[in-house]
Amino acid sequence: MKVIIIGAGIGGTSAGIALQRLGHEVVIYDQMRENKPVGAALSLWSNGVKVLNWLGVGDEVAELGGDMAEMAYLDGHTGETLCRFSLAPVTEKTGQKPYPVARADLQALLMRTFGEENIHLNTKMIGIEDDGQSVTATFADGSTDTADMLIGADGARSLTRAYVQPDGADEIVREYSGYTNFNGLISVDERVGTPTAWTTYVAEGKRAAVMPLAGDRFYFWFDVPQPAGIPYDRSEGKAPLQAAFDGWAPGVQALIEAIDPAVSLNRVEIWDITPFDTWAKGRVAILGDAAHNTAPDIGQGACSALEDAFVLGIAVATNTLSVEDTLRRYQDIRVERAGELVLRARKRGDETHAYDPTATSAWYESLRGNDGTGIIRGIVGNIDGSPINLGASVLD
Ligand SMILES: Cc1cc2nc3c(=O)[nH]c(=O)nc-3n(C[C@H](O)[C@H](O)[C@H](O)COP(=O)(O)OP(=O)(O)OC[C@H]3O[C@@H](n4cnc5c(N)ncnc54)[C@H](O)[C@@H]3O)c2cc1C
Repeated sequence: MKVIIIGAGIGGTSAGIALQRLGHEVVIYDQMRENKPVGAALSLWSNGVKVLNWLGVGDEVAELGGDMAEMAYLDGHTGETLCRFSLAPVTEKTGQKPYPVARADLQALLMRTFGEENIHLNTKMIGIEDDGQSVTATFADGSTDTADMLIGADGARSLTRAYVQPDGADEIVREYSGYTNFNGLISVDERVGTPTAWTTYVAEGKRAAVMPLAGDRFYFWFDVPQPAGIPYDRSEGKAPLQAAFDGWAPGVQALIEAIDPAVSLNRVEIWDITPFDTWAKGRVAILGDAAHNTAPDIGQGACSALEDAFVLGIAVATNTLSVEDTLRRYQDIRVERAGELVLRARKRGDETHAYDPTATSAWYESLRGNDGTGIIRGIVGNIDGSPINLGASVLD
């Protein structure tokens, strides 16, 4: 079978590797000119790492991963430690250590593993046509390609998402989550946090955090609740952070001081999409953010894209009626689980960003002296329903 994948992000490349390993001919198209992921890093929780293990890149991912042994919450104003506990129970309960990884490193690994000769960059898909026998993608340069199956892993602003919706369905729109995220990489700085801890400063519905990456680096991020559409010019550099975190604890000032905006500072407004049920039509299906664009508040967006890749692989390997039937089964396994993670992230974002100040104050209070039991239960709860826990391995 020949498969076209639109999008060379984590979703598209991981699905590509899974289908390739099943013996299919896969070609990926992406509109980006070069591999330049938006965002500096991400946390791969145990479910995401397990899919990568299944895809055969577990050792490489472990090398890229930071040693996130502990979690600590600090008062954003005073720097007082509210709680600190080991994350070892996450590994014990799920059977896999989670890792924060630099996005560019993970993306390069996945593109290399898939085979860069079969990834066509600078090629924007503008149309899809399914005649019942095959599916044809049309690109902005006028070229076309035809295959048995097309997977739209084309991200949050997916064109494929609209294509697969039933005729007459309401338009699917992205919804603003109420805050802006700033992120990037710095060298490990012990003034900010312990080198092997995920450290988060909290106050005023804002967060400032660091997570350890391989290579003695910290992934840092800040959340700032604010309206959508505030203009930002890169030349402003750290100024919005200095203003938003003015008077915060010395650890936060040290973090802002350590940032070199010319080297690593991204700003992204956070939006998500209310879960919807239709992911497949005929020979076409969507995967990753195209299907379940989520706020990053539980760190599960890419992990969920990896789960999609796993389920698509299993569905293709085990179903024989038709491409259409296989894609419907893939959709039916994924819709509920992926949608639930989107809603959990939304709920968590509401709690942490002081949209209801009383609820956020109660959360801050609950952190004081917390032994981590409930927090770890929440993290493990996000991983527990993963399809990867079936342990199936049709590729081996
Ligand atoms: C601030 C932030 C922090 C996050 N942290 C985490 C985290 O800690 N853990 C986690 O698991 N997830 C996290 N996520 C979510 C994660 O980044 C995404 O879920 C994941 O990257 C989605 O991958 P994807 O392949 O589906 O989409 P994308 O990475 O967006 O890839 C889509 C690709 O499709 C291409 N494309 C789009 N349209 C076309 C077209 N018409 N023709 C050709 N190509 C096209 C684009 O160029 C792009 O390369 C975070 C997200 C944000 C914003």
